[in-house]
Amino acid sequence: MPPKVMQTTIQCSQCRQPVRATVQSLVDAAQDPQAKVTLLAGRLNMTQCPNCGTPNSILTPLLYHDGGKELLISYVPMELGLSKDAQEKAIGDLMRELTSNLPQGTFKAYMLQPRQALTMQGLVEQVLQSDGVTPEMLEAQRARVRLVEMMINASPETLPELVKQHDAEIDSSFLNTMTMIIQQFAGEGRVQVAERVAEIQNRVVELSTFGKELLEQSRMQETVVAEVAEAINALGHGANRTDFRNLAIKFASDDQRLQALVGLVRPAFDYTFFQEFTTFIAQSPAAERDALTALREKLTQLTAMVDQQAQMELQEAVSLLRELMSSPNPDEFIQENLPLFDTTFMQVLSLNVQEAQKRGDLAASARLKEIYNRVISALQTNMPPELRFINDLLGAPSDAEANALLDQHAQTFGPSLLAAFDAVEGQLAGQASPALIERFDMVRQRAAQLISN
Ligand SMILES: [Zn+2]
Repeated sequence: MPPKVMQTTIQCSQCRQPVRATVQSLVDAAQDPQAKVTLLAGRLNMTQCPNCGTPNSILTPLLYHDGGKELLISYVPMELGLSKDAQEKAIGDLMRELTSNLPQGTFKAYMLQPRQALTMQGLVEQVLQSDGVTPEMLEAQRARVRLVEMMINASPETLPELVKQHDAEIDSSFLNTMTMIIQQFAGEGRVQVAERVAEIQNRVVELSTFGKELLEQSRMQETVVAEVAEAINALGHGANRTDFRNLAIKFASDDQRLQALVGLVRPAFDYTFFQEFTTFIAQSPAAERDALTALREKLTQLTAMVDQQAQMELQEAVSLLRELMSSPNPDEFIQENLPLFDTTFMQVLSLNVQEAQKRGDLAASARLKEIYNRVISALQTNMPPELRFINDLLGAPSDAEANALLDQHAQTFGPSLLAAFDAVEGQLAGQASPALIERFDMVRQRAAQLISN
């Protein structure tokens, strides 16, 4: 049962060029959850002019239905200037369309009298309210967006004062809103604006009370993780389960250190570890057994937590891949979801390619490889130019060619290139081949010489 969707041609309100547009006049949230998402994002019946970029809204009567919530809302734009009769006929037609698609016997009384929305905004608010989003929550969210806008428009000099004035409003919801706005810009391909907002977000974190607390917390966490990592390293290569048990006992009263320990060396806490732990408890002095049992229990919970996190990331990556594979327009899908294509996703994708090859399924492996290339090229085009350049340097066929590239372009980038090298270094450690690391060190040194001169 396809929702009522039509293609039409409108004239751009700005440049007057004809624009192809999709019009949807019936949204059934149960059958088409994506249409609901589009509606809530304000993108339903909106089309961006390919010529001048102006967003054009297509005015059409609209019927929104969500059977699970017994919600039926009609919206007839006033701008259409329809008489009352014509309005009723338009909605009546959509109602017939809707009910003819419903399974037998599901017609209910609420369908006789749709609620009315006077504006698209009003329709969106009614839908959100049925999801438990109150007008107060919406207003709070709008206030956050307004504050982000003020920050974008503020100069670097006036930003600290603005943050100070609104310090009480800067909390995790506010920072999440900023992240959402960054993702929206990036999704629309407006990478420079996205980067600018990301820079502002960093400064807001540094300047605000809430942000300072966050930074302090994450610094403390980093210290804890570094200390625990050092303790693990001190055990040396021959470390066995008894060593890890002793370390856990040492950290027994410190949840943060225990969590870091399990997170860093999850494989050490296997089935045998817990078996041996049980034996150890039985052999320990009676006075110590309760505390040890509590510790074993805590370690069990922590391993489950670590596994669950890894599992969730994996599942998200798998379902993202599935969506991408079934998308009629993979490139668009990739652009819209770019931040989701992370290391976990790339791992899942490579595993799938290998698996298809092992099975001898050539069609699947070719399709997966094609998807792989599309994702890589999208990630590369969206990279800051410095990173793309470093990528080119690392991928150059020979050292000589890498050096030639550097000599030609290093100075145009200036110091920002050196900063990009620093940023890449962390990502490279542990995953790159020795040859790649050697190339990296070489080009970095040469870049530093070229740019400082
Ligand atoms: Zn236009």
